[in-house]
Amino acid sequence: MSSRLHVVVVGGGVIGLSCAYYLARGGARVTLLERDHVGAGASWGNAGTVSAGHPPLNRPGRVRDGLRQMLDPTSPLYIQPRVDVKLWKWLYDFAIHCTDDHVEHAMRIMAPLGKEAFALFTELVHEERIQCGYRPEGYFDVCSTESGLDGARHEAGIIERYGYHPEHLDGEELRRREPAFSESVIGGVYYPEAAILQPSRFLTSLADALLRHGGAILEGVDVREVRVVAGRVTGVRTTASSVTDNSMIKGDSLGADVVVLATGPFSLAMARVAGARLPVQPGKGYHRDIEIGPNGAPALNVACVLSESSVFCTPMDTFVRFAGTMEFSGSNHVMRHDRLRQLTTAAREAFPALGSARPNSEWVGLRPMSADGLPIVGPLGDVEGLVVATGHGMLGLTLGPLTGQMVANQVLGGEEPRLEGLSPDRFR
Ligand SMILES: Cc1cc2nc3c(=O)[nH]c(=O)nc-3n(C[C@H](O)[C@H](O)[C@H](O)COP(=O)(O)OP(=O)(O)OC[C@H]3O[C@@H](n4cnc5c(N)ncnc54)[C@H](O)[C@@H]3O)c2cc1C
Repeated sequence: MSSRLHVVVVGGGVIGLSCAYYLARGGARVTLLERDHVGAGASWGNAGTVSAGHPPLNRPGRVRDGLRQMLDPTSPLYIQPRVDVKLWKWLYDFAIHCTDDHVEHAMRIMAPLGKEAFALFTELVHEERIQCGYRPEGYFDVCSTESGLDGARHEAGIIERYGYHPEHLDGEELRRREPAFSESVIGGVYYPEAAILQPSRFLTSLADALLRHGGAILEGVDVREVRVVAGRVTGVRTTASSVTDNSMIKGDSLGADVVVLATGPFSLAMARVAGARLPVQPGKGYHRDIEIGPNGAPALNVACVLSESSVFCTPMDTFVRFAGTMEFSGSNHVMRHDRLRQLTTAAREAFPALGSARPNSEWVGLRPMSADGLPIVGPLGDVEGLVVATGHGMLGLTLGPLTGQMVANQVLGGEEPRLEGLSPDRFR
């Protein structure tokens, strides 16, 4: 038996894989348990942008805008009307964080972390020779209305105050840099401190890197409970005996010194063993991938987000991914085709050359949305050896490696000051 610290990481998304990777690199014995397969969650099909430093979703006026958008079937936001006490409690918590003070509070925490996240991402991709089409070339936020442009400029102003370098561009300059833009694009902002990549390729390569550093990945293992004895984690109870014949799991249990819960918006009731309430709701988003070609997508030079519709348009290999929308309709993967269509309808306004070729992929994923717009990362107070890493919302890919590094420092070194503002204790 090894005397090394044994860490069980629950969840094979970008957050779980990153935690497992940095823990294994730091010398821990790591077992990652995934109930489905690596990348089964939101991490697989997201928009593929590494873009940090933006204010949280909670902003003044957001509730008013949200209510107005709910009446507009083509808006990026949709809340399915239903009786769901947890959702309404979450919406209340979200609303009380929509203040200028909270924006500044979140920026003080997230702006420096965003810079580190971008630098670490670039370092990781080079160190592990990850072939995921990583292009640290920035992206455009483009607008087709004056009010959209005002909003984009306001956001850029906040980001600039926190040490980033957004560049304001008019429509002509945007078309010079990206000739595919239509005349309807009147201006926008270029964010140089950002990158794009193909998230599925990144995940697969990160899983390989984890294995190279001695970690183990067990797929098809659903974790049902964190075992705690006398205030200390002792392991997890799983469904393993019924679904896999894996010799590392005895019966249905696996012992551990530390358990990291990186289950996205799922299975967070397990945190209750530490008396913790984690206000996370699934925020559904979609993608449509369209091959580049005469009747398909234009060959874009750089990625962009269409400001008014919040649709990301990211060139990846041979196709362009159109991704976005935010839907609070529960923990399910039901695809609403009108929402999918909205992605390409919005994109066609900005890119008239977008043809009618059928998408080669349509996908839905659930973002882990925290009520205050900040990730929830760190030890869960009352139980020694229990750590949570969730709530990354629209930034899970961006913050994945940094989250992994911070969790590894906390677990292996006993402290990580950068986690202070992200601690789950803020919801106690
Ligand atoms: C349309 C869309 C576009 C996006 N674009 C971007 C972007 O451009 N940039 C960016 O930074 N972020 C983006 N995001 C957000 C990002 O994808 C998420 O924040 C991130 O994937 C969350 O990662 P995660 O590992 O926490 O969760 P997930 O990827 O959901 O992983 C959680 C995993 O845990 C597993 N699991 C759950 N419960 C259990 C259990 N009991 N036992 C074992 N396993 C369990 C699940 O099967 C799943 O595989 C986007 C999201 C969407 C939906």
